[in-house]
Amino acid sequence: MRFNEYGGEAARLAADLVNASRPLTPELLEPILSAHGVAEATLPTEHVQELTRWCDRLAACFDRQELRQRCEVINGLLADTASQPYISLHDGQPHLHYSSPGADSAAHVRAVTAAGLAYVVCFAGADRLGRCAREACDRAFVDTSRNGRRTYCSLRCANNDAVARHRAKHR
Ligand SMILES: [Zn+2]
Ligand SMILES: [Zn+2]
Repeated sequence: MRFNEYGGEAARLAADLVNASRPLTPELLEPILSAHGVAEATLPTEHVQELTRWCDRLAACFDRQELRQRCEVINGLLADTASQPYISLHDGQPHLHYSSPGADSAAHVRAVTAAGLAYVVCFAGADRLGRCAREACDRAFVDTSRNGRRTYCSLRCANNDAVARHRAKHR
């Protein structure tokens, strides 16, 4: 898994896990994990429970909050991943891997999502972790836009909200 200043696939995985409907099940989680390049995506039941608790903690990272507080939340995640970063050469280019080769899929997901969110805060800016401004939506997103001023999870939500505001004004 590759990381860029926006946390790459790992930060997007974190957002998708936060946005996944509850209760989480293996059927729900496995496609999300494999869509984000988690190779070993099979999940025993006890891992689903573990990941549900983890996703609640990931959710807190996207809430609007002071920088210091957000860092504390993410530091808490990093502390609980017990990850052992190492340089991998499996695709020819040196890059960091955050979970040990033998780690189970839940441990792997914990390690990469914590690292991905930390990348966003340290290299792109903490405000790049956000939640959709449309009240009925509230989905978590990673803002990878050039100016970093995204307030909606999608163009659809931005348009819906614009229409609603327009209607409200002309009522
Ligand atoms: Zn790799
Ligand atoms: Zn939205």
